[in-house]
Amino acid sequence: MIGVYIHIPYCRTICPYCDFVKRPTKGAVPPEFIRALQTEIAAFDGPRDADTVFFGGGTPSLIAPGDLETVLNAVRNHFALTPDCELTLEANPDDITEDLVRAWIDLGVNRVSLGVQSFNEDALRYLGRRHDANGARRACEIVGSHFANWNIDLIFGVPPYDAWSATLEETARMNSPHVSAYGLTYEAGTPFGKRAEEAIDEDLYLEQYAATQALLHHVARYEVSNYAKPGHESVHNLHYWRNEEYAGFGPGAYAFVNGVRARNHVKLEDYLQAPGEKCEALTLSDEEIRVETVIQHLRLREGIARDDYAQRFDRSLQGDFGGALSALATRGLLHDDGETIYPTNRGFDLNNEIGLALVTVSV
Ligand code: SF4
Repeated sequence: MIGVYIHIPYCRTICPYCDFVKRPTKGAVPPEFIRALQTEIAAFDGPRDADTVFFGGGTPSLIAPGDLETVLNAVRNHFALTPDCELTLEANPDDITEDLVRAWIDLGVNRVSLGVQSFNEDALRYLGRRHDANGARRACEIVGSHFANWNIDLIFGVPPYDAWSATLEETARMNSPHVSAYGLTYEAGTPFGKRAEEAIDEDLYLEQYAATQALLHHVARYEVSNYAKPGHESVHNLHYWRNEEYAGFGPGAYAFVNGVRARNHVKLEDYLQAPGEKCEALTLSDEEIRVETVIQHLRLREGIARDDYAQRFDRSLQGDFGGALSALATRGLLHDDGETIYPTNRGFDLNNEIGLALVTVSV
């Protein structure tokens, strides 16, 4: 079973911290882009059984329902989707209306991920978002009244820092069954890249991260930056975190099939000219796949089970990683219950250190 990702790169306005593949547009998603997606999906040469479809962006909520239907028909014609396939669409709060949400439901969308980022006006202005706090509240109410499964996306480490707890408390009141909360980064190549001196200091970052876990009491952390009620974990993202296969369509989209991680052209013009042509493709060795799989699993509260590793790779987790895993357990970053190894609270706080320690292990 694979996940299907579709990247819609268009946005009404460009946020200065954003390093995703995106393109500003005043109008609708252009027909040539929809045609390119159809062509690319029809030509996909790989596994066809899928249990998730995820429209990410950019701003997928800018697609007109008729165009969304066209793309979904292309997906359904090519892939065998499971009856309970998770079908997610990322949305900007400003785009949400009752009519649009009803149209999505008619087309089979069963999960909406709302790019709220903050419920604080100053934080939203700092981030250069096009919606305001009341727009975010209104969108949450509409989406929450129509979907059993929906997500609020948040960003911490954004001034004013003392507003973060109020945003978390309001998120808990909204009672969304899933929350993603990532720390703001000042990426080179974005306008924020030149303002890196404004970045939050490490202690305050960890304080805000700890507050996230403490104040989102309606959900539980199941991945470093993701929280859910039981049964509402993102099935699509679990494909990534378990290092499973996925297909990716649209500019800059990654796919991981048959041990090859490949990326579509990032530049929109190149993509439109040759949809599905790759700008990079990396064949991973069995060893690299094993290392990545363990690192990814240790981002998850479920961790990695010795039996699952043995079944997947026909090798022993102890034999391959025993030394490094015990050293991480001694440092208090991992817990080993004999069957499964998973991150402790400290292991969530300092998750990069787990990755760094394992990436150098030869297995
Ligand atoms: S709306 Fe999302 S994808 Fe578009 S510029 Fe802002 S952060 Fe980037």
